[in-house]
Order: sequence, then structure tokens, then C-alpha cells
Amino acid sequence: MNLAQRMLALEPSATLAMSGKAKEMKAAGVTVYDLSLGEPDFNTPEHICQAAFEAIKSGKTRYTPAAGIMPLREAVAAAYKAKHGLEYKPTDVVVSNGAKHALHNAFTVTVNPGDEVIIPAPYWVSYAELVKLAGGVPVIVQTRQEDQFRLTAELLRSSITPKTKALLLCSPSNPTGSMYTPEQLGQLADVVLEKDIIVIADEIYENLVYGDNKFASFATVRPGLQDKTILVNGVSKTYAMTGWRIGWTLAPSNIAKSMAALQSQETSNPCSVSQYAALAAIQGDQSCVATMLAEFSKRRDYVTSRIAAIDGMSCVEMSGAFYAFFNIQAHLGRKYGDKMVETDSDWCLTLLEQQHVATVMGSAFGAPGYARASFAASMETLKEAFDRIEAFVK
Ligand code: PMP
Ligand code: GLU
Repeated sequence: MNLAQRMLALEPSATLAMSGKAKEMKAAGVTVYDLSLGEPDFNTPEHICQAAFEAIKSGKTRYTPAAGIMPLREAVAAAYKAKHGLEYKPTDVVVSNGAKHALHNAFTVTVNPGDEVIIPAPYWVSYAELVKLAGGVPVIVQTRQEDQFRLTAELLRSSITPKTKALLLCSPSNPTGSMYTPEQLGQLADVVLEKDIIVIADEIYENLVYGDNKFASFATVRPGLQDKTILVNGVSKTYAMTGWRIGWTLAPSNIAKSMAALQSQETSNPCSVSQYAALAAIQGDQSCVATMLAEFSKRRDYVTSRIAAIDGMSCVEMSGAFYAFFNIQAHLGRKYGDKMVETDSDWCLTLLEQQHVATVMGSAFGAPGYARASFAASMETLKEAFDRIEAFVK
């Protein structure tokens, strides 16, 4: 049976593939130090699980409106008003099966065949593939480690063509941990408004920000920007709820309406029980977020110091999210035993085979010569993993 044309160019998710490899090794009895997947290692907080039990017991187990239950849409809109001063109607919020699905909706309703979407590299693995699925053309723009992997206004301006439809921004960034300051976002926003393109802003790590760094939602940095922006967010990372599959968009009304229609045909509502859990997460006590952040912050400091101590390795300051994206160029073109380690892919696979440490190759994020380690893993795992990485490069 032949595959449809659109599937021929589709790459499977490299993060999920590396984590799959690590899981296979674990199933075969090997102890693997798994830093491959960006998934909090904490359990979902108890009060959120309790809300889900109550939803099940009280029969909230049927179809909901395709775009989500109104109390959740209201709660999301209220949270953006309180936190960012942004005014959205509850109907401008569309609740989806995770932020990944929300991104798919955003590209599908805005991108015409041949439209270009600018994606700064290093980028999270799914963006380019989701743009291609929507018939668009991902335009990868390389940023530099010296610039903290941030897209500059000049680089953005020079990447825009008459076919440019959208810019994808992810801040704090998966995979680099870098984040834009409000001023830097403002400079990008000036180009966006002048060139009349739209922005899909993936802000899923907004609550995982370290030290004195300050998060600003892209839609807030210039007047009029809200009409040009689709905000993407969700509960997966903030509340350790990756498996519940709840994400959302906040968008101009016509876009939200169209995404709701798309979703009504493609998936219907996201899981009813998960929606009640997400509602409890947003409306409940937020101290669980601070507790997890404090733990991530310790790990971030630890990982930063371990990378800095390895000869020829470096990474940018991790302002947010829970990834270290480290430069391994000095360690490529070397031999491990009889094996030549030429590329970042060879490096990550050899590290996994020989030292049982799972990371993800930079090339999967459009940045060959790097590797990504998630520090959403316990301190013990991180310590053993970095001991082994150190031994591996020695
Ligand atoms: N955006 C980014 C930047 C991510 O790292 C992830 C992680 N999976 C997602 C979106 C998707 O999140 P979700 O699990 O809610 O689909
Ligand atoms: N976003 C996470 C990561 O980058 C989860 C994997 C995925 O959704 O692809 O590891």
C-alpha cells in the first residue's frame, strides 16, 4: 500500500525515538540514565488527581464541547488576564489534546500551501514537521550560541519573503533553555507588525523560569500584537501532567472559532476527566509549582556546573525550561574504542550503548554538533549520568 505524499517527508519525533530506545534497553534489564525526554519526573500533585477522581465519580465522563468545557476556557482566560493583563473571551481559548495538538491546530488553520513559516534553530523537534503537514514550508533560521541562540530583529527581517506567513517563537526554549527579554521580544514584534506576519508563540515553559529572569508573553510587548499572535500553552510541564494531554491556544476570535471547528471534526473534545484535572490545576493552590521549580532550579545549577567542568563542552545560560543543550563539537571526530564518533548522532548513540546515558542529538533540533540533556530527572540520575558523560569523553 502506498503512503500519501504528505507522509513521505515526515520524520518521527526524535525525542520520542530516543526515549523509546532507552525504554527498550531498560526492558532488557539494563540500568539506563535517561535524560532523553522532557517530562517532569514528579507525580501530578494530589489535589489535581483528586479532582479527576471526583469528575469520574460524578459522571463527567461524556463528550464535552469540542473546544473544551466552558469553566476551563474561562479559567484560562482569567489566568491570562491576572498574569499578563491580556483580555481574551473564554471562546478565544481552545482546549486541545496537549500543546502539540494546539500547535497542529494553529498551523492548520493559518498556513496555506507554500506559505513559509520561520522557525529559529535550534528548534523543538515537532515544529517543522507540523508545518509540513499543514502544507507549509518551514524556513529554518540558524541562531548562534554567542547570541544565546536568540533570533535577532535583523535576522528575522532578512528571513522574511513575500511568502512568509508566520514566525514560530519558543521562549523559554526547548531545547536551549534560552529566553528572550521583553525588550528583545519588542524588537522582534516591531518587525512582525511592520511586515504584517503572524506569530505562533509557544509559551509552555513560562512558569519554569530561573533566577532573576522575567518572562513576558509575546502578545503583551507591543500594542496591537494580540491580533497577530496565537499563544500556545498547557498543563504538561507546569503541573507535571504530560500524560493527561491538555494544552490550549489563545487566539483572535476568528482563528479560535476555526480551530474549534477543526477539532470538532478531527478529535472532538480532549479527555473530559483531564479537563477537570486541568481546571483544578489552574484554580488550585499554586505552591506545587514553586516546589517543583525550586527542585528544577537546583538541578539546573548542578548540570550547569558539570558541563562547565568538562573539557571542550559549553552551553548557554539556562534561563528557563529544563534542558541543557551542550556543545560537543570538540568531541566529534574522535574514537571510542574502535568506533569513530563523527557526528552528534554517533556521539549520542555511542554514549547510550557504551555508558547507558540517553540524550538527544542536536541535529534533531536543527543544530548538529550539540546534544540535549533533560534535567527533569532526579539528582541521583543526573549525577550518575554526568559522571558517565565525563568518563565517556575522557
Ligand atoms: N512545545 C514544546 C516546546 C514542548 O517542549 C512540548 C513538550 N512535549 C510541547 C510543546 C508539547 O507539549 P504537550 O505534551 O502538552 O503536547
Ligand atoms: N517535549 C518533550 C521533549 O522535547 C516531550 C517529547 C515530545 O513531545 O516530543 O522531550
